[in-house]
Amino acid sequence: MNTSTAVIGFPSVYIQGPNALQQLRVQLHQSLNAQHALVVTDPVVAHLFEAPSAAGEPDVSLQVLHFSGECTGAEVQRLCRLSHQPAPQAVVGAGGGKALDVAKAVSLQLNLPLMIVPTAASSDAPTSRLIALYDEQHRIVAVPTLRRNPDVVLVDTGVIARAPRRLLVAGIGDAITKRHEVSRALEAGVVNYCGGKGTGLSLLLAEQAYNTLRRDAVGALEAQARGEPDAAFERVVEAAVLYSGLAFESGGLCIAHGLLRGLTAQAETQQALHGELVAYGLLIQLRAFEHDESEIEDLMHFYREIGLPTRCQDIGLPVPDASQALELAERTMTAPYVAAWSPRLQASHIAQALLTHEQRAA
Ligand SMILES: [Zn+2]
Repeated sequence: MNTSTAVIGFPSVYIQGPNALQQLRVQLHQSLNAQHALVVTDPVVAHLFEAPSAAGEPDVSLQVLHFSGECTGAEVQRLCRLSHQPAPQAVVGAGGGKALDVAKAVSLQLNLPLMIVPTAASSDAPTSRLIALYDEQHRIVAVPTLRRNPDVVLVDTGVIARAPRRLLVAGIGDAITKRHEVSRALEAGVVNYCGGKGTGLSLLLAEQAYNTLRRDAVGALEAQARGEPDAAFERVVEAAVLYSGLAFESGGLCIAHGLLRGLTAQAETQQALHGELVAYGLLIQLRAFEHDESEIEDLMHFYREIGLPTRCQDIGLPVPDASQALELAERTMTAPYVAAWSPRLQASHIAQALLTHEQRAA
């Protein structure tokens, strides 16, 4: 792809609502022309797919396979081998981020259309073509991509409302960063994940996600506590799953996500969720680009209100000294979208931003 060409990828169909899962077989039949589908699912939500089809539903048979918990090449091969006759004509991935990723890899290997059914709004992965493959030691070893975005993304907000609160907070954290990351990525001319220039629409989506989350996150979390999706909950899920996913993939990322390379190398952060880490990373990004103290304070106030981390101790990490901060910063600079800022931005700026932030947020 010519990097002077703007490009953006979308799922063909995005469906969201309290009973969206009732459309599973209809969508398999109508959108993917499938009579037999392979469902790769987290065991905890397997029951959603093991019930026989209801009266009036299209006759689509489902072979349900339970995901073992880690998205490795071996797991992808195991699931592909379990696929039996009649040959599947589509793959459905259901569950958390890793289950969705392994289903993406299975669909790539079997060369079949893909439906994604996230059961938590914990990250921006559902609409994306990226797949994070791990080794047996839980380290990311490769990020292959689908040939196109998932064909159908089916988001049942009744199911998502029953997921743990912390997962939705993490999804809000993963989405809140995009406004600042996409605008920086566009400014630096970063090549997006579709292999071209970012589009103005990516920034529009990132800003819409930000504004929605600032306005509706508290209300959405209250709705979740009641177990009843309401309008605020629907808007927040749409921001966290649809806007955030499209924004990062076709817009790009910056320090908030780049800092992951340093943070996830520390054993202490193993219990922290992706969205928690990048939300913290956004605070460091704002420091590195010298945003006003009042803007950072305002964002930290929002984080505290909903339970996102504001200090490194909130993600399990002791306050780094100068050399540890520099090591974290140097790893951050290995992300190509952060390196695109070099020499305007160097590891020493990021290290200083981290140290300043910890001092001020203490
Ligand atoms: Zn993310």
